[in-house]
Amino acid sequence: MATPELNARVAERSEVAPGLCILRVVPEGWELSDFLPGQFAVLGLPASAPREPFADLEEPPKEPDKLIRRSYSIASSSKAREYLEFYVALVHSGSLSPRLFMLRPGDPLWLGRKFTGLFTLAEVPPERNVLLIATGTGIAPYMSMLRTHAPGGGTRRSAVLHGARHSWDLGYRSELLALQKGTDHFTYLPVISRPEEEFDPWRQHTGYVQDLWRSGALDAAWGFHPRPEDTHVFLCGNPAMVDEMSAILQAEGFIEHSRKAPGQIHVERYW
Ligand SMILES: Cc1cc2nc3c(=O)[nH]c(=O)nc-3n(C[C@H](O)[C@H](O)[C@H](O)COP(=O)(O)OP(=O)(O)OC[C@H]3O[C@@H](n4cnc5c(N)ncnc54)[C@H](O)[C@@H]3O)c2cc1C
Repeated sequence: MATPELNARVAERSEVAPGLCILRVVPEGWELSDFLPGQFAVLGLPASAPREPFADLEEPPKEPDKLIRRSYSIASSSKAREYLEFYVALVHSGSLSPRLFMLRPGDPLWLGRKFTGLFTLAEVPPERNVLLIATGTGIAPYMSMLRTHAPGGGTRRSAVLHGARHSWDLGYRSELLALQKGTDHFTYLPVISRPEEEFDPWRQHTGYVQDLWRSGALDAAWGFHPRPEDTHVFLCGNPAMVDEMSAILQAEGFIEHSRKAPGQIHVERYW
């Protein structure tokens, strides 16, 4: 089978923290198709592409021209039609992410033309509140949702609960803080799991997003405890967090959503 052409280019790259970067990707000679905030794209690079030097060593590829492809949530607004933004974590033992980390503006890569996924707000009734819970780069689909549909205006409350190891790993923090300042319909609650490694004392929540949920911090911000009758919850990122949070929510009466059995818990597991 012929190797698919590298049909896109990196327009911008920014380093959020060691092992975390934001890539803006533009199609080359074709138009981006429509997508719903929360959906994902597929990125690819040939096995011959260089790997980030800090990543684990790998055997020389047997098929250097073969594309390595992985899914990445789109972080940009679905109204931004010129580029797609991705928030990528370096997995040291991984195949594609150490290669994506070597990309610089102007470098070519492969971008799948179809954007898919059911992790969207499409099936959330407009009067329901939306709670967006993420670990690490799992914040990406929520950035697309919040950038496309700015909170405020209706009665819906939205909140982001974002967990990371360190404060500097909380990607999009300044944008989310600014959003919170701009409307009383939106709450941003970051939580870090390694406060002892901070350079300046961290005076906010510590532990995991599960601890944050149990702490009642959201109840204090919203003035009520979210219930299945009034709130849909999105869970994205580390599968252990997704499973634990889903179990906690199910014990409170929330149901995992599927097309056949509508519920209030929407999940996206990254691995
Ligand atoms: C729908 C969907 C959306 C995704 N969106 C994003 C995104 O926006 N940003 C992003 O960085 N990743 C995202 N991922 C994960 C991504 O597809 C890759 O799995 C990831 O980049 C690792 O790829 P790799 O080839 O480097 O490692 P692989 O060779 O595929 O994986 C090696 C092993 O690393 C583990 N692993 C995979 N991802 C991670 C991780 N992030 N942290 C720790 N361990 C991991 C797994 O156990 C895996 O078996 C998404 C996955 C899915 C299914």
